[in-house]
Amino acid sequence: MKTGLITSDTYQNHDTGPGHPEQVARVTVINENFKKINNQNIIWKKPSLITDDIIKDTHDADYVDLVKKSFPSKGFSSLDGDTIISPGSKEATFDAAGSIISAIDGVQNKEFKNAFCNIRPPGHHCNQNKAAGFCILNNIAIGAKYLLNKHKYKKIAIVDFDVHHGNGTQDIFYENKNILFISTHQYPYYPGTGSEQEKGKFNNILNIPLPAGTSSEEYLNAFEHVLKKLKEFKPEFILISAGFDAHKNDPLAQFNLNTEDYYTITLRLLKASKKFCDGKVVSILEGGYDLQALRDSTKRHVDALLEFN
Ligand SMILES: [Zn+2]
Repeated sequence: MKTGLITSDTYQNHDTGPGHPEQVARVTVINENFKKINNQNIIWKKPSLITDDIIKDTHDADYVDLVKKSFPSKGFSSLDGDTIISPGSKEATFDAAGSIISAIDGVQNKEFKNAFCNIRPPGHHCNQNKAAGFCILNNIAIGAKYLLNKHKYKKIAIVDFDVHHGNGTQDIFYENKNILFISTHQYPYYPGTGSEQEKGKFNNILNIPLPAGTSSEEYLNAFEHVLKKLKEFKPEFILISAGFDAHKNDPLAQFNLNTEDYYTITLRLLKASKKFCDGKVVSILEGGYDLQALRDSTKRHVDALLEFN
């Protein structure tokens, strides 16, 4: 079987201004690398045109309307201190959310076995009604709700290995027994949340906070708790918030993961997924700010997706 790679050109018009770490080149280096590799088992696919109804299953209607009105006709504007938008950000934002819909439908229709969405802006810091940390819509939460509402699944797991806590995703699903949210992250650190005590109303949140300086070995040992929780929950579909900023070369955080660790953790997730959800996995890009580390780590992440399908 094949692996889907969902992307579109509209991310290039999401201009965050000079010197901003969440830059156009992040997605470009990944796409160019996969074009060069030219693996015939990668199916390139565009995002779906996403409807307001689908977005409003996750976000407050007022917030969606506000976001739509916020994109400037020229220059820059901002939705929070870090979240800069420009005229082209609108299409990029809706394509980022539409990519996970396209990926999920591709898995459901058996176009491919699993998928990676190479998009920006990222999503996991954005909650029901607030943009934050470069995130405007919570792409992965929109995907999880779509799996529940459209495809009638009952148990979805979201695994977030970005170095920052996925606070927006946690907020959205804190009281949702159908969603298990697991996050590994540097702690204490931005955005400040993600302690072990935050467990969700139904014990459906598992936070694995780790200190600055965490090594590969320490991280991989901690990752066993992710797998244990997945085995208990037995999800029918797994979504991955794939941030690559825990890499040792990343400028925004202080973990020490190697490129190869992204292959290892992806393979471990896929092996677990094979047991209870027939390998149905959709991954979406979150953070990752060292361009070379990002290019190489996404390659190893997708290598695992290709190998184990
Ligand atoms: Zn991050």
